[in-house]
Amino acid sequence: MAFFGKRILSFRNRKKDTPGGLWDSCPSCKEMLYLKEMKEAQGVCTHCSHHFSLPREDRIAMFADAGSFEEWDGDLTSVDTLKFTGTASYTDKLAENLLKTGYKDAISCGKTRVGGFDVGLGVMDFKFLGASMGAVVGEKVTRLIERSTEARMPVLLVCASGGARMYEGLFSLMQMAKTSGALARHAKAGLPYIPILTHPTTAGVMASFATLGDVIIAEPEALIGFAGPRVIKETTQQDLPDGFQRSEFLIKHGLLDMIVHRHDLKQRVVDLLNFWMPESSQRPVPVDGPMGIKQEDVVEAPTKNTPAKRRKS
Ligand SMILES: [Zn+2]
Repeated sequence: MAFFGKRILSFRNRKKDTPGGLWDSCPSCKEMLYLKEMKEAQGVCTHCSHHFSLPREDRIAMFADAGSFEEWDGDLTSVDTLKFTGTASYTDKLAENLLKTGYKDAISCGKTRVGGFDVGLGVMDFKFLGASMGAVVGEKVTRLIERSTEARMPVLLVCASGGARMYEGLFSLMQMAKTSGALARHAKAGLPYIPILTHPTTAGVMASFATLGDVIIAEPEALIGFAGPRVIKETTQQDLPDGFQRSEFLIKHGLLDMIVHRHDLKQRVVDLLNFWMPESSQRPVPVDGPMGIKQEDVVEAPTKNTPAKRRKS
């Protein structure tokens, strides 16, 4: 599938391209890769560290302490409100992607433990309609954040997306405000949120929950941006700098806080949670009031625990 000039294939998909399904070549260093080794290496090229797209179940397994993931809202299904028909109807597209992935939409959310911390975890899956954000993705992300706020849990969201889901028109765009509002209330309760931006994280997802983190982490060489580089180049009529919209470019320009190799991601998240989890976040919270939180019970985290980009509202 062509997407911003780069094929988005997980190593599991790529094996279909090779006889026997045992070997494949790395698109970055061109070395031959033994797929069993690559799976053990969490989808990272053993020669050049190119990060392949990772299936959502592998990504969950990568973060979740063994056997701790409990899925929420796995049955939510998109509705074809606009009766959209292009080359295929939206309903047909949904059925096709359900068959292809075994999932009903482009994100899996739930409660898990990461390094012993209770965490709300969401993992987006580019294989499902380019991990586009429609009403179901927006609702699942919002419920994840709201339940985590009630349970006083940090949120970890592994992002990948082509943007808002065009099949749902305005309904998809509304999810940007809805998820951002839920995150604002989560932040106001003094709870940390860590988005992890993987290749590619673009458009409406990048412009909402993917970049509202207390610490924004990206994997190496991930494409991250709002409009694609070709569109920007054609609109501005200017040549774009080398590495434009890649993680390494964006960290120099202040959009990201860290680029972390996939093998170090879980430990880095655990280090952040160890640093962040202030005693105030672990106090029981009254169940009445919006989100189960009374305004007078909202405790700002102590300064030493407050990330530089902590939102105030
Ligand atoms: Zn390689």
